[in-house]
Amino acid sequence: TKLKQARDTGYQLLAAGESSQAAVIAAIQILEDSPLFNAGKGAVYTFDGEHELDASIMNGKTLNAGAVSGVKTVKSPIALAEEVMENSVHVMLSGEGAEVFAKQQGLALVDNHYFDTDARYQSLLKAKQQLAEKEKQLKDFQAAHQTLNNEYKYGTVGAVALDKSGTLTAGTSTGGMTAKRFGRVGDAPIIGAGTFAENESCAVSATGHGEYFIRYTVAADVCARVKYQGKTISQAGDEVINGVLKPIGGTGGVIIVDREGNMSMPFNTSGMYRASKSNTQATYVGIFKGE
Ligand code: ASP
Repeated sequence: TKLKQARDTGYQLLAAGESSQAAVIAAIQILEDSPLFNAGKGAVYTFDGEHELDASIMNGKTLNAGAVSGVKTVKSPIALAEEVMENSVHVMLSGEGAEVFAKQQGLALVDNHYFDTDARYQSLLKAKQQLAEKEKQLKDFQAAHQTLNNEYKYGTVGAVALDKSGTLTAGTSTGGMTAKRFGRVGDAPIIGAGTFAENESCAVSATGHGEYFIRYTVAADVCARVKYQGKTISQAGDEVINGVLKPIGGTGGVIIVDREGNMSMPFNTSGMYRASKSNTQATYVGIFKGE
């Protein structure tokens, strides 16, 4: 599967002595290029029938970070996030400006239709139909939009890695949420919400209902619990995902790796596609709970 291919590609780079940053980028790009995931090719549609992509990356050693939001023509949003981190004085670029920068840096640009897939288009049609029905009932578009349920199993892509030098990196790339409007930006490109890494604690990448992940600074909160409360990543991840988010309806999950190479991938939905590999722990791939 693509998930295994992404994981193994990242792992091989790490085993060959490459950086966690290189491994995270390589893994995410495989998932971006696959139509199966909501990132790059296969990204979900906005209400207006386009694709607006978000991505971010953070290096846990330098605490340098790069993020892009609302880009429509950049083939690999995670590659652009890395360019922002490495070759700009800024941390986050959005929309047209980000695309100008992408062009200047020589990244591959594509027509917005490159990201099209029939499956995601059907999801948009379904979402719009649901919205119209709910709006009739509730007489309020915002309230109707609130009731839309998204399929988090088919979400965002992310990767976290620890390399031989002890550097942690986290990265996340997404098309956001189906039928999003008005230039909506989710948690994925927000450092501290969808992505966070610091060598002292851990690296985190999140997927889920972005509006909750932003307000609860999910990725940073997991790392803070590890750093200040001495929690393990599985305790910290469980507390935030199941303790904090679940009761308030914040659906989603995170993947976490700490500076010792421990890994944890908690989620509060029915499933989250996930895979891991390390030189100390069993190789793993799963979708539903208890797998
Ligand atoms: N977190 C993403 C967002 O809110 C969506 C997802 O993970 O499926 O944009």
